[in-house]
Amino acid sequence: MSCIFCRIVAGEIPAEIIARGDGYLAFLDVTPLADGHVLVVPTAHVASIEDLPSADADALFRAVWRLAGPTRAAVGAAGSTVGINNGSASGQTVPHVHVHIVPRWEHDGAGSVHTIFRAGTRRPIAEVGRAIRQALGE
Ligand code: AMP
Ligand code: ZN
Repeated sequence: MSCIFCRIVAGEIPAEIIARGDGYLAFLDVTPLADGHVLVVPTAHVASIEDLPSADADALFRAVWRLAGPTRAAVGAAGSTVGINNGSASGQTVPHVHVHIVPRWEHDGAGSVHTIFRAGTRRPIAEVGRAIRQALGE
């Protein structure tokens, strides 16, 4: 088993475990972006969220919902950034789905999700909306 998060799920390598439940495991990021940086992973190995079985997707987001508040409270944070790097193009380095919960404070120097992206000209949103609805089969 080469996936580092599968090895953590299996207990083969140590991690600072926060919670575990049906279909998910939560532990602290080993290189935290802030105190209380939690990773929530499905216990089954899946690389991207598109490949998650529906029940695992439910369990994963339910775990994020359950953990966000206590994590924030534990470190006295004012908010959190919750995010998934989905695919290597987005910066995903561990190909096992994981949700980052990163506690945030006013004026902590980090940006919002919007700061990841550069300003630029985009396709008309009506055209893109049509394409996505079509892909959805609607
Ligand atoms: P990403 O760039 O979204 O794929 O994030 C991967 C995250 O996994 C990074 O924030 C790493 O610090 C974290 N990470 C890598 N190895 C470990 C590990 N053994 N235990 C905990 N977190 C890890
Ligand atoms: Zn894995």
